[in-house]
Amino acid sequence: MTSDESARPGMTAGDLPLSWHAVAVAEVFGTLNSSEAGLSSDEAKSRLSANGPNLIERGPRRNALKILLRQLLDPLVYVLIAAGLIAVLMGKVTDGLVVLAVVVINTLVGFVQEMRASKAIESLSRMMPQQATVARDGDATAVPAHEIVTGDVLLLQPGDQVSADVRLFEVSGLQVEEAMLTGESVPAGKHEAPVEADAVLGDRRSMAFGGTLVVAGTAKGVVTGTGAGTELGRISQLLSETSGLETPLTRRLGRLARAITIGIVIVAALIFVIGLLREYPMLDSALAAITLAVASIPEGLPAVITIASSIGVRRMARRQAIIRHLPAVETLGSTTVICTDKTGTLTRNEMTVEALRTQAGALELTGTGYAPEGELCADGGLTPRASAAATELLRTAVLCNDATLENDEGRWKIVGDPTEGALIVAARKAQLDEDTLRAAHPRLDEIPFDSERQYMVTLHATPEGGQLVCVKGAPEVVARLCSTTDGQSPQLDLAQEAVHALAERGMRVLGVASGLAADMTRLEGAAWRHELRFLGLVGMVDPPRDEAIDAVRACQRAGVVVKMVTGDHPATARAIGTLFGLFDDEGGGAQVVTGRQIETTSDDDLIALARDAHVFARVAPEHKLRLVKALQADGQVVAMTGDGVNDAPALKRAEIGVAMGVSGTAVAREAADMVLADDNFASISAAVEEGRRVYDNLLKSLAFILPTSLGQAMIILVAVLFFPIVDGRLLMPIEPVQILWVNLVVAIALALPLAFEAREPGLMERPPRSPDEPLLGPLLIFRTFLVGSLMTAGAVGLFLYEYHADLSAGISPELARSESQTVAVTTIILFQCAYLLNCRSLTEGALRIGLFSNPYVYLGIAATLVLQLCFVYAPPLNTLFHTHPLDVSDWISPTLVALAGLPLLALEKRFWRWRKAGREAAQVSAGRAAPP
Ligand code: ADP
Ligand code: MG
Repeated sequence: MTSDESARPGMTAGDLPLSWHAVAVAEVFGTLNSSEAGLSSDEAKSRLSANGPNLIERGPRRNALKILLRQLLDPLVYVLIAAGLIAVLMGKVTDGLVVLAVVVINTLVGFVQEMRASKAIESLSRMMPQQATVARDGDATAVPAHEIVTGDVLLLQPGDQVSADVRLFEVSGLQVEEAMLTGESVPAGKHEAPVEADAVLGDRRSMAFGGTLVVAGTAKGVVTGTGAGTELGRISQLLSETSGLETPLTRRLGRLARAITIGIVIVAALIFVIGLLREYPMLDSALAAITLAVASIPEGLPAVITIASSIGVRRMARRQAIIRHLPAVETLGSTTVICTDKTGTLTRNEMTVEALRTQAGALELTGTGYAPEGELCADGGLTPRASAAATELLRTAVLCNDATLENDEGRWKIVGDPTEGALIVAARKAQLDEDTLRAAHPRLDEIPFDSERQYMVTLHATPEGGQLVCVKGAPEVVARLCSTTDGQSPQLDLAQEAVHALAERGMRVLGVASGLAADMTRLEGAAWRHELRFLGLVGMVDPPRDEAIDAVRACQRAGVVVKMVTGDHPATARAIGTLFGLFDDEGGGAQVVTGRQIETTSDDDLIALARDAHVFARVAPEHKLRLVKALQADGQVVAMTGDGVNDAPALKRAEIGVAMGVSGTAVAREAADMVLADDNFASISAAVEEGRRVYDNLLKSLAFILPTSLGQAMIILVAVLFFPIVDGRLLMPIEPVQILWVNLVVAIALALPLAFEAREPGLMERPPRSPDEPLLGPLLIFRTFLVGSLMTAGAVGLFLYEYHADLSAGISPELARSESQTVAVTTIILFQCAYLLNCRSLTEGALRIGLFSNPYVYLGIAATLVLQLCFVYAPPLNTLFHTHPLDVSDWISPTLVALAGLPLLALEKRFWRWRKAGREAAQVSAGRAAPP
């Protein structure tokens, strides 16, 4: 292992073989030319340019060859290759080659489309830039993870993804999940002490490795390897990014395609038999059967769905919702419940302290708010009587605090938790400077805040030589911590009332306590609680996001129930819930359910409770998991937001786990299906909207492709059943190679534009789609048969008309045949162009959805027409496809036939609209859930 270590690229002291995990930290610092204070930014910069960025280059990302081969793994391709070879063997060399050429072109089209789609999906993983905190010039600084160099001192916190391999020091209860390296899902405890040189990866307790996740505790570590020099870098070739292109919907579609294929093979066999019974030449019967198969296997389906999804993914990303797992795109469309955080998602997470409550009295803070510009001074906020108590409260709140205030070109910026930043701003308003305070009271130990615990404790050395315990957290929790000393003191009763009064104003309320201790160096056991004194309350406001208010309303209109799940006080939750109209939905009235209630309710009863209530307060992450399960047991499709390490199980369990991109932890992001780049609720509702659109467009593509397949099959069937044999050959309205032409043109130009269709009006006014709604509903089935029949009637009718007209004009049967076939193919193509316009909406007219809202449709039609002109007039294509140039007048009837379908189909749409309206009316009169 030792010699291996020295070979690490990216290691500055590469000439010295060293097992980082086995030596003392001091030696590591010596070797890497660094110290506990970290590097200077100049040194970091020069190391960065010398050793390169902290990035793991993944090899060729998607295996192009694999995608290419997958195109060939298609029953249709086998059929075609067989048909091509048969034709060549029987002497029809040109026909055979055309068939094989079509196989090649089809494969290429599929290949290019799938490559593009998979590229779009892959690029997502690179969209969330990783940040890391390092010590630079002695200060904790946030830097992009790729700028980390060996020798940097990395600061690790719960929820972080470790950005590089580090040798740990100053470890405090660090637990790291290393499953991606070791396969071990139980988090590993870490420490500073060196371990055996030959320890395996999972036993190197003195190291934390790049890519692993910190689930608890804090630590510092000096970076020993970056990029390809990390353990993850070494095995990255083995890691396959498995966000494959397969989703539940593609699987369903695949099953549908298979069922259709089997049906077609049976019909094709029947046709062959019928042909033999009617005493056609063997070759004709075989060709007719193969043509039917080729015509009707909807080979375009999988590509369409992949592409529709990738378009959805891209559009969602533009709207700040980054999809991590492809199936989420389609699941979003059927989401029925969104459980959302309050802080930062519905509100802006721009906290401003507005009220202080101490025993000495109440005071309201005025003056500049969040991100204060210029003066940080309370205008007469503090009365002398209260100021001593308030000062002690604020001093404690500043010590028990990890946030800092930065002046970024005249604007004040909070670095860290906004709740904590607000406390520093408040302290400054009272002329307390956090840097001075913190310097005078060095921190000895800490228990970080966590939503489960709901408090934070720090231990400090005082200038007088004693120790000070500082606590802040949810008031009732802090009060409970104090109660060992205070008992049920009147102090705490007062707090109860005051908390309520503040929370009802929609404020987030924190309780603060402190106590002096002697001879304490660590926050172990319960000793630190013994001398705690409750100092008072802080109330802070957090304005709502205006766009989130609208988005909540949009979701409610769309039949998606919005439930707020917060760690805040029930009264705060009630105030914010009211503001967002969460109680407007029918159900639990103005009920606010607490985490404790969730805890004490049985699984069965929780189902009703979860269904009826819309606001949940004082909820810990473990309650979120039960909530998700209860909603799912009720048949809901649940989207759940979360940001913390402990939220991961709930995020994994929910159909759509949503993590916060800004405030969330890497652990939550790893567990999520979707990451919000802006933490904003509005982005969830945008994603739901896009999800619905993707599904809509998919159905539209189905509505286009299926009748096309069916229509062509019916044409062959009609010919085999009823058409005569002329000159020893079966008279066919379209020949096999011509069918291939139609399919090729459709695949290239007509099948995809519908995936770009804009959202339909009313998209967010209808209820969510049921997740087990069949892919082919009555509308699609009916329309497939209707359109297929129309197309058959048009093409066969015009073929017969043209054929007989030609014959009676004295044209040779051979020429009449090819001219009429050209007319029939042109009819089919024009019919499909017109039908594409109809498919832009399943039930709405073109005017309602906007004639020009999807330019790709017209682009596709234009391309099709150009191709068709070549088909009819280009001599090489005439030879290849047995076509014959048409007179201009020959175009009239195909055009008329194509257009004649449109008014009929418009009527049919009207029927479905009428039927839907009738249903909704029936629902309203039956008193069932219906939009107001
Ligand atoms: P939310 O779901 O709104 O994000 P949290 O779980 O973060 O709720 O917070 C719950 C409660 O914990 C808050 O009402 C507040 O009293 C307290 N709290 C929040 N942040 C901190 C913090 N950084 N330090 C101490 N207490 C906090
Ligand atoms: Mg929070």
